[in-house]
Amino acid sequence: MYGNFQSYLQNELQSIEEAGLYKHERNICSAQGAEITLQDGSKALNFCANNYLGLSDNPRLIEAAKKAMDERGYGMSSVRFICGTQDRHRELEKAVSKYFHTDDTILYAACFDANGGVFEPLFTDQDAIISDSLNHASIIDGVRLCKAVRYRYANADMDDLERCLKEAQAQRFRIIVTDGVFSMDGNVAPMDKICDLAERYDALVMVDESHSAGVVGKTGHGVAEQFDCYGRIDIFTGTLGKSFGGAVGGFTTGRQEIIDMLRQRSRPYLFSNSLPPMIVGAGIELFKMLEESDDLHTRQQENVAYFREKMIAAGFDIKPTQSAICAVMLYDAPLSQKFASAMAQEGIFVTGFYYPVVPQGQARIRVQISAAHTREQLDRAIAAFIKVGKDLGVLK
Ligand SMILES: *Cc1c(COP(=O)(O)O)cnc(C)c1O
Repeated sequence: MYGNFQSYLQNELQSIEEAGLYKHERNICSAQGAEITLQDGSKALNFCANNYLGLSDNPRLIEAAKKAMDERGYGMSSVRFICGTQDRHRELEKAVSKYFHTDDTILYAACFDANGGVFEPLFTDQDAIISDSLNHASIIDGVRLCKAVRYRYANADMDDLERCLKEAQAQRFRIIVTDGVFSMDGNVAPMDKICDLAERYDALVMVDESHSAGVVGKTGHGVAEQFDCYGRIDIFTGTLGKSFGGAVGGFTTGRQEIIDMLRQRSRPYLFSNSLPPMIVGAGIELFKMLEESDDLHTRQQENVAYFREKMIAAGFDIKPTQSAICAVMLYDAPLSQKFASAMAQEGIFVTGFYYPVVPQGQARIRVQISAAHTREQLDRAIAAFIKVGKDLGVLK
C-alpha cells in the first residue's frame, strides 16, 4: 500500500530540497540562551530565538518549575473540565488577566491552540472575521475552522480595513483580528486606529500579543499598553513560549462571557491535556517577576536601540522597527541564504528569509534581540555583520 504514496512523498521532498526550501534543524547541546553550544562542542551567539526577555534559562523560573513538580506532580493526565484543573491553573489565569487588564483567562497547550479554538465557538456563518493579511498561521487556521464570512485587509492598512468593515455591515457581528507585532518586519499594529474603526463600524477587536507582549509598550505589556487601548480590546491571545519564559503554553484573555463560552465550547481546550504543573508554577513566578521590575524589558529596549544604531551607522538598510525584531534588508533571495550561512561560520545565528515568507524581492536577515545579549555579544554580532557585509559586497 505504501509504495505509491512513498514515491509521491519522496518526489515532493526532493522538490522542496531543490527549491532550497528544505528546513534543516540544528541540534543545540546546551540550554537555550544568548550563547549556545552545538553538537561539535563549538559555541555560537543566538540571534534567532524568541527569547526576548532572556528567560529561557532563568534560574528563578527553573527553580519554580522544579518546586511545582515536587508539590503538584509531573502531569495532569486529564483535560481541564474532567479532572485536570489545579488551584495553580486558576492562579496563573488570574495573573494573565491582571497583566492584560482583562476579566478572565483560559489556558491552552499553545497559542496555536488558543487561536485555533477561539473563532469557531463564538461566530457562525452569519458573522464576519476581518483579518490582517500578515496574521500568524494559527490565526489563519483558526479562521478556517469557523464558518464566518472572511475578509482580509492589507497589512496594517487602515483604509483597506475600513473598506472591509463597510462590506461586513452585511453580517450580524464583526471581529477585527490582528497580530500585535508582525514577525517579519517587526512593525506594530496601529491598535488605536483599529479600535477607532471598530467603534465606528460596530466591530469587536482581537489582538494576538505573542510577539508584542514583553516587548512593546512603556513597560513592555504589549500593543494594548503602547496605544493605551485597555478596555477597547475584547480578546487577547498570547504565548508562554516567547517573552514569557519560552517553554510552552498559550492563553486567551478578555471579556468574561467570551472566556466562559470558550471554556464550554473551545475544542482544543475541551479535548487536549491541561498544562503540566511545572509550566504553570513557572508561569506564576514569571508574572510575579515582571510585576516586581521591568529591568529586563528596559535592557532589551536598550539592546535593540544600540544594535540598530550601530548597524545603520555601518551602512546597513534596516527596516524601522518598534519591536525586538530587526530586519536587515538584502532584497536578493540567494544572497540572504549566503549571508546567513556566512554569519553562522562567524558563530552568529540569524535567519535569512525570502519569498514566499516575505514578499518577492524583499529578502532579508531577521535579527531578534534579547535582554540576555551583553554589549560584548552585540558588538561581536555587529562586527560579523560588517565583515560578511564587506565580503559579500553588501557594504562598500
Ligand atoms: C509564535 C506565535 C504563535 C504560536 O505560539 P505557540 O504558543 O508557540 O503555539 C501564535 N501567534 C503568533 C502571532 C505567534 O508569533
